[in-house]
Amino acid sequence: MDLTGGSFAPDAASACRACAARSAATPPRQTAQERLHRLVAAADAGPLRDDLLEALRNGAQVNPWVVGVSADRARSSTRLHEAIEGRDQASAALDAGGTFQLAEVATDACRFVAIIPTDARPVIVRRSSRRRAAPERPGWTFTDAREAAWFGVGSAGGTEHALDGAGTLCGIPPARVTAQLHLFTASSGSACPSCAALAAAAPTRPCAQERLHTAIATAAPGPLRDDLAAALTRGAEITLWIGALGPDLAKHYADLDELDDNRAALAAALAVNEHAGLAHVLHGSWRSTVLLRDGEPPLIARGRT
Ligand SMILES: [Zn+2]
Repeated sequence: MDLTGGSFAPDAASACRACAARSAATPPRQTAQERLHRLVAAADAGPLRDDLLEALRNGAQVNPWVVGVSADRARSSTRLHEAIEGRDQASAALDAGGTFQLAEVATDACRFVAIIPTDARPVIVRRSSRRRAAPERPGWTFTDAREAAWFGVGSAGGTEHALDGAGTLCGIPPARVTAQLHLFTASSGSACPSCAALAAAAPTRPCAQERLHTAIATAAPGPLRDDLAAALTRGAEITLWIGALGPDLAKHYADLDELDDNRAALAAALAVNEHAGLAHVLHGSWRSTVLLRDGEPPLIARGRT
């Protein structure tokens, strides 16, 4: 018997009658959606699981579905840092080691990743499906986007005062109040009236785009800086802004292999074992990556989305 390419067609004139009958009686293969549905049903009950099951019943695309993935590779390809839901459980499952199946399911609203250990229950992560810049926001400005000022709470004698670094806004030194672990709420019944009035009048804080725009002013001049600066003034979305040691940023957050411009410089800078900040910004057809370090100018790299 010679093997030929293609699949067996039972109604072809040259088809063996017995094979045609057996093939017609063979149950159809389950779809990827059906097979994944069966596996995911064993995950912890909750809205995240139910949303994924529903997406699979609705025929959402499963792609890719890979098996035998190491924990390290799973962590980076799952993009845990972009997770909207399920990050902690997924991180714990990956910390347990072993190999995993990873299946991604895309819907219009989000992207699910099912992480399926060999002998434990699957865990699910939900990410934003968008890896590309949103349309620009006409009329968006730093001024409109400023955020209300916020203060800590220093309590004294049952009254809550608004606390900043230098003491309470009404002038009590920090040593005379007890710092609390929540933010000052001017409308609270126990709020000091002077602090409430001063907090309401306090200047607003710059939004993340404005802060990053200020931070990159000292980066090397050129299109990487200027394109990003212009995009930030138009409200470009900052999808990540995180602080960690350079090598950890390189391993889990920097997505070095997706960079087109300045990849080598960023990789070299992240090899330094010091704390640094890393931000991702989506704009136009780019995702820019900004590295912020103490005592060094910011470094900007970018890749096409
Ligand atoms: Zn006060």
